[in-house]
Amino acid sequence: NFGFDFDALAEKDRDHMIHPWVDLGLTRTREPLIVVEGEGATVTDAKGHRMIDGIGGMWCVNVGYGRNEIAEAIAEQARRLCYFSPFGIIATPPSIDFAARLAAYAPGDLKHVFFTTGGSTAVDSALRFVSFRNNFLGKPKKKHIITREYAYHGSTLLSASVSGKPADRGNMDLITDYIHHLPVPNPYRRPEGMSLEAFCDAKVADLENKILELGPENVACFIAEPLLASGGVIVPPPGYQRRTWEICRKHDVLYISDEVVTGFGRLGHVFASKPVFDIEPDIITCAKGLTSGYVPLGAMLVSDRLFADLTATAGKGQFFANGYTYSAHPVACAAGMANLDIIEREDICGRVRENGPYFQQRMAELLELDMVGDVRGSQFMVCVELSADKKNKTVPPTNWDYAWRIFEKCRPKGLMVRPLSHLVILSPPLVITRAQIDETVEVLKQ
Ligand code: PLP
Repeated sequence: NFGFDFDALAEKDRDHMIHPWVDLGLTRTREPLIVVEGEGATVTDAKGHRMIDGIGGMWCVNVGYGRNEIAEAIAEQARRLCYFSPFGIIATPPSIDFAARLAAYAPGDLKHVFFTTGGSTAVDSALRFVSFRNNFLGKPKKKHIITREYAYHGSTLLSASVSGKPADRGNMDLITDYIHHLPVPNPYRRPEGMSLEAFCDAKVADLENKILELGPENVACFIAEPLLASGGVIVPPPGYQRRTWEICRKHDVLYISDEVVTGFGRLGHVFASKPVFDIEPDIITCAKGLTSGYVPLGAMLVSDRLFADLTATAGKGQFFANGYTYSAHPVACAAGMANLDIIEREDICGRVRENGPYFQQRMAELLELDMVGDVRGSQFMVCVELSADKKNKTVPPTNWDYAWRIFEKCRPKGLMVRPLSHLVILSPPLVITRAQIDETVEVLKQ
């Protein structure tokens, strides 16, 4: 039994653990998958069965499992100083060092780092920062937030409200005032016969028209993942990111680039905004690969341009009333430093730029199968969209569980994928080898 009493664990899981994003009815009837250890790009379950982790934990274990160096950095910091509050003027060396190191990687003048507990709280903090700033500067009308359908930005009330996956909105009360969802820029679902260029024009126009309709003086920000990750690895048409960023600049609307998934090597750069999409956002949010998932941490990076105005708050009894006990947690920042050491020393980003196209090219072979409607992605993010009707691209009902069945078929063959209704998503650790990529594709073909 590999040292774990699977049945006892499964029973306790059923009785006591509430899992995120589970059909609550199924937890009583489906056996849990209990993961107990990992090495490189693989994980092993409680029954001793080893699998390639096609999910990268949850798009996050970027430098792979079993990194002693990160474990040691965590242990050393925990022994020396497990925690101290970051509130007010207090700080710890790892949090200061890590902030400075992130700022050095950030595009443009994004030099100010606010640490959070994960991606949701990074997005929440970014949106709250924007509203605080506008109110403080005497622009209280600038409140509207523009986002997109199929976006995923998190699970706090505010970050969930700017998210737009239809399946996540059922039975949930969300904030709807001041939040506007544009249609998703998904090339696969563009009107029949429309060129990519024309589609891009239309999606960029959607943003500008919405800003003009609301009045630029009333619009605070546009928030966007460079590629929509959980929404189905949607890659907008070429030029879309740059052109939407330019529209925001033109109308004095802040641009928040949510790099929670795309950062820390997944697209071949520490931050993808500038090198891949040629944008210099006003704010970048990140998490996941920030510590490669070894401990929770998120961050928002704010431009000097936005931050400088706020120094005028000094002595006015005004403060940015947002923060968490575990903001800038020293153990998490120590893990983040060790994670960046590995990314730099092993040139993880270069490795992604080299192996990413191979991964995409091999995954694209799945398009030969009748049940596959689309394969899309970039570098180490990919989505296989299943289709019961390849020609007409009919969207299946949300309870269509083919992807789930593929997840279950792949497991005994040594591969874990992420099923989402009719989508099979892969975002493996960035250290996955070419042989493991080949194996992944072969298992999926079977
Ligand atoms: N933003 C994006 C783009 C994400 O994909 C996610 C999580 O998947 C989040 C934010 C929320 O991050 P977290 O789950 O760490 O709160």
